[in-house]
Amino acid sequence: MSDRPLPPSAGVIGWPVAHSKSPLIHRFWLERLRIDGDYGRLPVAPEALGKAIRALPALGLRGVNVTVPHKEAVMAHLDHVDATARAIGAVNTVVVEDGALVGYNSDAPGFAEPLAGLALPGKRALVVGAGGAARAVLAALKGCGIAEVILMNRTPSKAASLLAEMDVAGEAVGLDAAVPDVALVVNASTLGMRGQPPLVLDLSGLDDRAAIYDAVYVPLETSLLAAARTRGLRTIDGLSMLIGQAAVAFEKFYGAPAPREHDAELRELLTR
Ligand code: NAP
Repeated sequence: MSDRPLPPSAGVIGWPVAHSKSPLIHRFWLERLRIDGDYGRLPVAPEALGKAIRALPALGLRGVNVTVPHKEAVMAHLDHVDATARAIGAVNTVVVEDGALVGYNSDAPGFAEPLAGLALPGKRALVVGAGGAARAVLAALKGCGIAEVILMNRTPSKAASLLAEMDVAGEAVGLDAAVPDVALVVNASTLGMRGQPPLVLDLSGLDDRAAIYDAVYVPLETSLLAAARTRGLRTIDGLSMLIGQAAVAFEKFYGAPAPREHDAELRELLTR
């Protein structure tokens, strides 16, 4: 038997998982770096999650990304969950480290990546949504030093609970509230997604230096981003977060930084 090391392999676990863009992204980077590795789709039903996760070391996989509906349930099957993922309450990346299963959440650093150039510490942000994406966004904004978050949601009581649970200063408001004077507006709701109603916000009162960030990536140009562009504001689209979170996972799986100099080509591939 050859003792040549196995090619590095990882994948995405979900149910269903056919829609996931992760294989496209990771395989693109593997190819660009000429790494003889693989990244597959792993459809795993909820009742099989524990067995599938615990089998990762024996299967020789470096790790997996975790998508709907497993992001919360997977935590019970891990040896260790890092502090950010624990604060968010969800794991989207499991890495096999010295035979142990370690959970991370790469959505928060992925979301934060394009904010690096903005002077956000001490400023206020408006975040729309109080679901899974909003949890990662709040953790990231806390890490960026945002002073206060106005959390706008269809169900304001959910927003209020989330602020309290994540220990974020700010207030919860309904979707009919006026847009306050903030440095950053984030859509972390499903509004604006294909098949959903648009997110309509009056951006006219914002400072010219405000930025608008939409986590939705299908379609990439949401009506919120179009309105922000018309108003001359800086915009950040959902692919920035998608690519950013994948890059954090890629480095953990394959031990090499994702080759981000090819982002333009990758964006083209993802929007084809
Ligand atoms: P989720 O957990 O299901 O949360 C959905 C949120 O949208 C809730 O706040 C919900 O309000 C609100 N909502 C749903 N339907 C609505 C409607 N008809 N009117 C008003 N509000 C509505 O979803 P999620 O996982 O957080 O995902 C949210 C968005 O983020 C999706 O578009 C997803 O694609 C995107 N996302 C992007 C990335 C990325 O990498 N770019 C990563 C993760 C997620 P209630 O609380 O009132 O129900």
